[in-house]
Amino acid sequence: MSGPTFTPKSTHSAEISLRNSDSTAHFEPLQPTDELLAELSEQSQRLETASPAEILSWAVERFAPFFSMATAFGPEGMTIIHMLAEIAPETPIFNLDTGYQFAETLELRERVKARYGIEVALIKPELSVEEYESLHGGPLYKTNPQQCCFDRKLTQLQKAAAGLHAWASAIRREQSPDRAQAPIVGWDKKFSLVKISPLANSTKAEVWKMITDHDIPYNPLHDQGYPSIGCQPCTRAITLGEDERAGRWSGTNKVECGLHSIQDKED
Ligand code: SF4
Repeated sequence: MSGPTFTPKSTHSAEISLRNSDSTAHFEPLQPTDELLAELSEQSQRLETASPAEILSWAVERFAPFFSMATAFGPEGMTIIHMLAEIAPETPIFNLDTGYQFAETLELRERVKARYGIEVALIKPELSVEEYESLHGGPLYKTNPQQCCFDRKLTQLQKAAAGLHAWASAIRREQSPDRAQAPIVGWDKKFSLVKISPLANSTKAEVWKMITDHDIPYNPLHDQGYPSIGCQPCTRAITLGEDERAGRWSGTNKVECGLHSIQDKED
């Protein structure tokens, strides 16, 4: 199987190719024409009652080879990787590797490779953690996490999006008020991509049932009180009764890294 390429065209490239190296299809960016938006709306309605696997199959058929998936290796993302391994294992999958991820998260990437033969591309910021902290006089996540997420996640996703038409995300509607409004298929203004959320209607119990039923690998930190895992400095374990995302940016009013926030989509 040929894996996804991760090829910055230069050190400061604004374009990163996530497409399979054997893809010869010519890329033209998608435009949110009235016709495309009407198609997405119609498909989103139609797919409301479809299974996650059916939604993914439609996405692959409609958008490959310009279809990709972003994952932070959470339980939801792991079920999508499992389904893609059966439906379209050539789909490029990427992780925004901020340099601050848990060792357990990076080890899970290796387990994905061993289990499915899928090499998740790591998209890294141009500056290493050391260079970035040196530039800002220390860790920016302590003083300005919004900027840190922008620099080390959003900017990198924007670069990756430059060669794509559509991406799958693993959000579920019951995770937060913002996510409750996510369509199954919609136009993502921030990244100029079609965003597909095959698990939008899934419950947490359904996700974990699939993991258990199929012995899907998952991050061992989930068994240690971390239901939602991001970067190590911005994630803590939660206690009984806390919201499942209470451990993310705890002590600040930040609740999202910005990849999935509704405000950005509606700007
Ligand atoms: Fe920086 Fe924290 Fe955002 Fe990671 S989650 S990019 S460390 S602010």
